[in-house]
Amino acid sequence: MKKTRTLFMIGVLALLAGASSFGWSGREHYWINLAATIHLEDDMPGINAYGRKLAEMGHLPDLWKGIDPTEGNRHYMDIEDYGYPDPRIDRAHAGLLDPATGRYSPDAGIIPWVILDTLEQLTEAMKTTNWSDAAEIAAAMGHYVGDLHMPLHTTANFNGDLSDNLGVHKRWESEMPRAVRHSRYIEKKPFEYLEDPWSALTNWIIDAHQYIPAIMDADTLATEYAGGDQSSQEYYDLLWEETSPIFAGQRNLAAQHLASLWYTAWINAGRPAIPPLPGDISDDSIFIIEEPDATDYTSWIVLGVFILLALAVIWKSMTARPVASQ
Ligand SMILES: [Zn+2]
Repeated sequence: MKKTRTLFMIGVLALLAGASSFGWSGREHYWINLAATIHLEDDMPGINAYGRKLAEMGHLPDLWKGIDPTEGNRHYMDIEDYGYPDPRIDRAHAGLLDPATGRYSPDAGIIPWVILDTLEQLTEAMKTTNWSDAAEIAAAMGHYVGDLHMPLHTTANFNGDLSDNLGVHKRWESEMPRAVRHSRYIEKKPFEYLEDPWSALTNWIIDAHQYIPAIMDADTLATEYAGGDQSSQEYYDLLWEETSPIFAGQRNLAAQHLASLWYTAWINAGRPAIPPLPGDISDDSIFIIEEPDATDYTSWIVLGVFILLALAVIWKSMTARPVASQ
């Protein structure tokens, strides 16, 4: 996989993106990627050596939004726009069908297609034993799987604008876990080989979506309880009391389902031996492919060969003429 961007760029963007990006906080992405490697340690020998690195890379796709304008749509899916509660989520079409144009638009979010794409990329990287790419893709997949399990990444009301809960996104996923004491203990949990990853992905996203009303109701209740002060400890304590099973449950499921996806890729790749962690794992976007050089040498080479051939023909005809006249 070829990349155009540099670590320096990522570093600068990390500073810019920190305050504004939506998604589980970096700590949750770290936890989800690390937990998935722990779930798999008995069945994918060698994966343990990758745990910390994959965890550290878990937040990277949020930074890619700063260099790739198409990155944002990869992190969510507003399933109401796909016809929820009877969503038309078609494996063959990434994006919302706009009846006016008859075209699919990515504005409603494309997260399940992105995860399916990373599953294919990961399988191929493992099959060809390109473990640097495999690690990079696996870490990114972990991010998207985490986002898919975050209920507020599955709805058009992602920030509470449509239900008088404005700003709930950051309060629930970032501020709340910072404001309350909670365990980051990782317990080994089961995973499975996925016969039909697409069905699994669509079920997971619909399951995550069912928690939206509970989160909005808890936000309303906690706001009233705290006398309207959504930055108070009272607000966060009650919000946590009401929704911690959803928060921890979805985070745990994300790690289990991520383990299932990594395991599925590894089985489909033929269970290749996992080597020690490579030292050259890139932080760059797995979706930006290096563009061809500005100068297209191919056409110049073709032209040069053509000119040489033409000169050779002319030269031959000039030198042959006296012979022919004899
Ligand atoms: Zn994200």
